[in-house]
Amino acid sequence: MGDYNLMVILDAIRRAEGGLSRVELSAAVGLAPQTVSNICRRLLDQDLIMEAGKEGTGPGKPRTMLRLKPSGMYAVGVQIDPAVTSFALLDVVGNVVLNSALTTDASIPPEAFVEVMAAEVLRLIADSGVDAERVAGVGVATPGPVDAAAGLVVSPPHLPGWTRVALRDGLARATGLPVVMDKDVTAAAVAEMWSGGPNATGSFVFLYIGTGLGAGLVFNDEVMRGSSGNAGEIGHIITDPDGPLCDCGRRGCVKVTCMPETLVEQAQERGVLPVDDPQEPRSLHEQMAALAAAAEHGNSAAVDVLEFSAQRVARAISALTNLLDVERVVAGGPFWPYLEPTYLRVIPALLDSLSATRTVHEIGLTSASSGRDGGAIGAACLVLESTLSPHAAKLLLQG
Ligand SMILES: [Zn+2]
Repeated sequence: MGDYNLMVILDAIRRAEGGLSRVELSAAVGLAPQTVSNICRRLLDQDLIMEAGKEGTGPGKPRTMLRLKPSGMYAVGVQIDPAVTSFALLDVVGNVVLNSALTTDASIPPEAFVEVMAAEVLRLIADSGVDAERVAGVGVATPGPVDAAAGLVVSPPHLPGWTRVALRDGLARATGLPVVMDKDVTAAAVAEMWSGGPNATGSFVFLYIGTGLGAGLVFNDEVMRGSSGNAGEIGHIITDPDGPLCDCGRRGCVKVTCMPETLVEQAQERGVLPVDDPQEPRSLHEQMAALAAAAEHGNSAAVDVLEFSAQRVARAISALTNLLDVERVVAGGPFWPYLEPTYLRVIPALLDSLSATRTVHEIGLTSASSGRDGGAIGAACLVLESTLSPHAAKLLLQG
């Protein structure tokens, strides 16, 4: 690409639901009609956009609408989760062409697992039948902390052995494709921006509920990554000074009171869930599903555990919504579906009561549009963002 005006035009076409005519484009981006026309010609020649029907019923000739061409560009997304690593091949308008998942193998060195991931990426591209030349790159979303400049995964608490792993360059070398890397919460927020749904624009906090808790921050249509790619670490916001001890040495961090593992422990202590048989331990997903089902069936202890956590999370999130004056909170991540009914019921009123701007505007809470498989899709969106977004100058593609 490398041409700012071209990216601005591509971005405007992408954001317009029914496409845009050249005249509308010229008005939308503030460029001369001739410039717009020339750039559109280049984009048509490169097969990145297409002419899609004519519109207009008034006087004058109907206008040809321009839209992104789905087969014009593809991206592969990889989401590394402590349990499962998922893969998705996306076209440029966000349709999933093909996806897959592998168990995250903790028994082999991380460098060996990077090779496994690379092989799966190449298999996905080959099996999908898409033109491999049109795959713009691989996006990889990983638990933090990361060293964004160096492309390293730096000892995430739930990925033992992953100490300063050269994920970005390793994956680029093994696939021969450009690779862009981000923290999982940031990728989830980027996916929301690219979903085209009601949450796609403006300023919002993405509440990410994975094995741990994190936040993605989108401010005025731009994702905030921080100085090292680690913005949004909300786990140690203290929501209960008399709460349990956290691994950081303080008490009552939102992480220790609200992460799924803690909720399961609390449910076991309250007799909602049986204590695990060490011979046949149940997965965290199975236990969270059981806890959510108990609450749905009116088990009062289960309802208590979930409502208590919702109150704590609301306090932590309100620190961010007040700091950033966002319009809404969007929630998602692998464990969100189990918490969704309780959190959507409890958190909005609390957020409102804790909001410094409640006399000015409401702060909504909605579920992410990308659903449970959002991680790999979000990772693929990192590639689309870095390739197509005019704001992405800092996010350089490697390889
Ligand atoms: Zn802490």
